[in-house]
Amino acid sequence: MIELKNITKIYNSKKQYCFQALNGISFAVNDGDFCAIIGKSGSGKSTLLHIIGMLDTFSSGEYFFDKTDVSKLNERTVSKIRARSIGFVKQDFALIDEYSVLDNVMIPLYPIRSAEKKKKALSAIEKLGILKLANKYVSQLSGGEKQRVAIARAIVNEPSIILADEPTGSLDSKTAADIMSVFKRLNDEGKTVIIVTHDMGVANQCERIIEISDGEIVSQ
Ligand code: ADP
Ligand code: MG
Repeated sequence: MIELKNITKIYNSKKQYCFQALNGISFAVNDGDFCAIIGKSGSGKSTLLHIIGMLDTFSSGEYFFDKTDVSKLNERTVSKIRARSIGFVKQDFALIDEYSVLDNVMIPLYPIRSAEKKKKALSAIEKLGILKLANKYVSQLSGGEKQRVAIARAIVNEPSIILADEPTGSLDSKTAADIMSVFKRLNDEGKTVIIVTHDMGVANQCERIIEISDGEIVSQ
């Protein structure tokens, strides 16, 4: 379970530039929820998702992950939680083009034994219906195929939570619908899914919609 209480995020840079991207965000996401975070470009969606995914810190407020206060955890523990429990599908796939599909999906598995690694990665790839692409280079794939690889990589550690930043943003509508059905299936299997989007059509396919504008929740 994820609980955010009055989260703010202020970006600071050395040139004394300061920007408040999130202003008092509070909501909870229960295990098994299928939730959309919607808002215009620049509203703070990616910032919020990165905080939830523990890829970024927040400036004030509280974040409880399964009742644990995230701000009290050291970097090592945060890395462990991230690796075991959270699968992140980054915007624009964030794959390594000159690696094969299999090598991309194996990236999050580096601490485990090699034979087991390959088996786990192939099983995630199979789950996404792209087993025949396993040895292709990512640079040879279509957008929809790349997104499936990115999702396979996100689920390879069997996380309980999947976070996806604009997962349909660069796809045509038919491919976008296919990808949404992948998330629906993962949610049906019991995974918590949180999708960031600026597309109401995508958000409407989720069970819950949280709308943000200028770093604040305007409806949920
Ligand atoms: P969205 O994903 O909704 O388009 P973001 O969360 O990426 O919005 O950004 C929210 C606001 O924070 C934007 O105005 C953006 O310019 C600003 N911002 C994002 N990242 C940084 C950063 N690293 N430094 C300064 N400002 C940033
Ligand atoms: Mg964004």
